[in-house]
Amino acid sequence: MKQTFNKISDTVSAFFSLVFSSSVQRAAAQTKLTHHIVALNKKSSSMEIINEVSECLKDILGYRLFAFVVKKEAGVDVWLDPRMYKTSLEDIILKDFKIQSPEDLNYLNHSFEPDEHQEKFTLDTLVHYDLKEENCYARLYMLPQKGMTAFHDEVVRLILQGCATALSKQIKIENLKDAAVIDPLTGCYNRREFENQLHRHAASASRYKNNLSLFMFDLDHFKKVNDTHGHLGGDQVLKEVTMLIQENMRRGDILARYGGEEFIAILPETDKVKAMELADRLRIKIAALRIPFNGSTIRVTASFGVSELLPNTDTSRLIEDADTMLYKAKLNGRNTVMPGLIKVCAPDASPKADQRDFSRI
Ligand code: GH3
Ligand code: MG
Ligand code: MG
Repeated sequence: MKQTFNKISDTVSAFFSLVFSSSVQRAAAQTKLTHHIVALNKKSSSMEIINEVSECLKDILGYRLFAFVVKKEAGVDVWLDPRMYKTSLEDIILKDFKIQSPEDLNYLNHSFEPDEHQEKFTLDTLVHYDLKEENCYARLYMLPQKGMTAFHDEVVRLILQGCATALSKQIKIENLKDAAVIDPLTGCYNRREFENQLHRHAASASRYKNNLSLFMFDLDHFKKVNDTHGHLGGDQVLKEVTMLIQENMRRGDILARYGGEEFIAILPETDKVKAMELADRLRIKIAALRIPFNGSTIRVTASFGVSELLPNTDTSRLIEDADTMLYKAKLNGRNTVMPGLIKVCAPDASPKADQRDFSRI
């Protein structure tokens, strides 16, 4: 760390001695820049790093950072000046990074002033600087300032050099963290992380006397999918089913891959009836899914087991109950939710498999 600091300090010092004739001016600007660059390396998130860059630009040059976009393997992070015209900046970024929809942008900051009072911008009214590292590519956008000199330009480049090192380190840490908790094929949590999360959520549910349910599901006759469409076809099914489930769960629900083609979900603040209703909706959606693969269409079904945290039961019992119920669902002919479906229907109507009432279980 000391070595890094000395290196930064030397670079900054050499540059400032070329620009400022007054030693007082030089020392002040030099100290500020060194301070900000060192601070960048201590930040622990992309958001904190961008805030520091923004502070530094304001502090030394009086500039305002307009937008900062970081493209990494896992997506595109965007920071926009909250006082700016969001829609036009967003348009610029979408075009510039060849991104189809604003939904593909991951906003680091979320509150913006209303657009209608804001000035509009186009790409040619902004200046931008690029930053490239082995694991990310970033672009910083600003409004051109009056009297923008080579000095200003060079200060921005020095800040960005510091920013690139800090961002790259941060992304490496994020990737390592992700690799420890995320299943690489499906992108949902792995079993170990599920267990960690379950302990946390169960402890909190017991303490605050909240409901908590689990569902576990396993794809039916999945071996046949692999035999018919190959392992890659099977992998595609696992990815699509995960996406479908994630799109149809609440934000606070936690989905994990428990093993091969078996998944498990924690549903905080959810009782067993609601959990079974959700599981059944998901079961129907999985059965309706059509997965195109190599010119054919793959269809699958899934069997679900549901359990609920009861007073004085531990988390291993909760998993065991869901597993037992899943086993019963398989015995019960698959493509079903257990425990004990009670099909309720109007006296003059015949039961419909896809309209079940779990309220009397
Ligand atoms: P059941 O309805 O009883 O669950 O039958 P099944 O065929 O789904 O169950 P079985 O346990 O016999 O087979 C599971 C198959 O899932 C076998 C295994 O090769 C496959 N599988 C496990 N993990 C993966 C994976 O990551 N990708 C692919 N493509 N297949 C996987
Ligand atoms: Mg199976
Ligand atoms: Mg299985």
